Amino acid sequence: MTPEPEPEPEPLMRMRLRVEQDIFVARQLGREVARDVGLEQQDQTRLATALSEVSRVVLADGSDADVTFTVRPEGVRMALRVTVQQSSPGDGQLVRGDLAHVGRLVDKMEVESDETGTVVWMARRLPAGAPPLTPERMDEIRAGLSRHVPSSPIDELHVQNQQLIAALDEVRSQRDELARLNAELEETNRGVMALYHQLSEELEETNRGVVALYAELDDKSVQLAAASEAKSRFLANVSHELRAPVTAIIGLSRLLADDGSDPLTTDQERQVELIRGSASDLLTLVNDLLDLAKAEAGRIEPTLAEVDLRATFGQLRGTLRPLATRPEVEFRIDEPAVASIHSDEVLITRVLRNLLTNALKFTAEGEVRLTVREVGTDLEFIVSDTGTGISPELHERIFEEFYQVPGSKSLSGKGTGLGLPYARRLATILGGALRVDSTPGEGSTFTLRLPAS
Ligand code: ADP
Repeated sequence: MTPEPEPEPEPLMRMRLRVEQDIFVARQLGREVARDVGLEQQDQTRLATALSEVSRVVLADGSDADVTFTVRPEGVRMALRVTVQQSSPGDGQLVRGDLAHVGRLVDKMEVESDETGTVVWMARRLPAGAPPLTPERMDEIRAGLSRHVPSSPIDELHVQNQQLIAALDEVRSQRDELARLNAELEETNRGVMALYHQLSEELEETNRGVVALYAELDDKSVQLAAASEAKSRFLANVSHELRAPVTAIIGLSRLLADDGSDPLTTDQERQVELIRGSASDLLTLVNDLLDLAKAEAGRIEPTLAEVDLRATFGQLRGTLRPLATRPEVEFRIDEPAVASIHSDEVLITRVLRNLLTNALKFTAEGEVRLTVREVGTDLEFIVSDTGTGISPELHERIFEEFYQVPGSKSLSGKGTGLGLPYARRLATILGGALRVDSTPGEGSTFTLRLPAS
């Protein structure tokens, strides 16, 4: 079923174009109809101008024409449609090109020609907010328009001039606004460029500073490395040179106190014993210094092999048992929970002996214990004690050379403050790490973590 064609809506107004003067009337009428149906001021002028142009061209073709105004839908919105229809074919001079510029003034325009003549129709859509055009309102508009008395061409020219002045005013104010915006933009651009230059300079300056700082830092690290190497060399040399005379002093003092030597007075015996004690402290220090200097100079190369931990633990148990003399302290080195490790047995033993000796030195009662466990692909050797403990703020300091916790009371021997820095150095050489966890009054736990293979 084909849909019924839309019935042609009843026109709002009609008029006939016969003579040139009718062009003015059509223009006036166009503007009035446009205003009545709710088009805005500028659109009223556009439609009126378009209509007067079409009227001029159609009349010039030599034919009368009917002008009809209707309101009908155009797309989704209502529009005012004006149709100019020639009543006879005319001279055939009507050129579509003459109307091309008129098309720009309206939303839609079409020109259709056949043997009966030419029809030009154009439409301008009503604004979305225009008051609704009810049948009553349409009747009202029709009544108003029928009372329309055309004014003289002079009056219409006057109106047209007024509109032209208003349009020119608008163009001028838009041009002024544009000039103002341009000036503002230029000003802003200048500001941005100035800021950009300033920032680039500042950045360059900062970069120069950073480069200089890096160069200085490089110099300093080279100097530092050289100084550290010199220190290690010095310590190694001095301790090496000291070892022989100190050992000689110990031997000689032993000889003096020997039963086979001439008898000494009680005073002399005490003094010789003091010399021997001091010399042996000095020898411990010299040996520790030499070990540390060697480790720091990179002169210790680990010898990696499969280490049987049962044997290692057994050896530690044997050598350290004599130091665990207090009955209040339980010294526990149980069978290891892990059978072996791929590492350097001598270096591991040195670190563990160091840690266990410290634990025995600082534990008056409770227990000192060594265990081992697997953590991922690593092994952790844990030396725990129930001794004096160490304050958290000193946990890193005790790994510094010669540092000893002030007031800490060792139960045997004075110590040198070189044991932990040496142990940590060895842990690094073995590809691992040494850390401490300790609470004063509760005890300490030193953990040596090494790769298992
Ligand atoms: P030292 O020869 O004095 O033992 P270390 O470098 O081995 O030198 O230890 C440094 C200091 O760390 C010790 O003097 C001691 O104050 C503290 N310390 C080390 N181990 C323990 C521990 N198990 N319990 C309490 N304090 C410890």
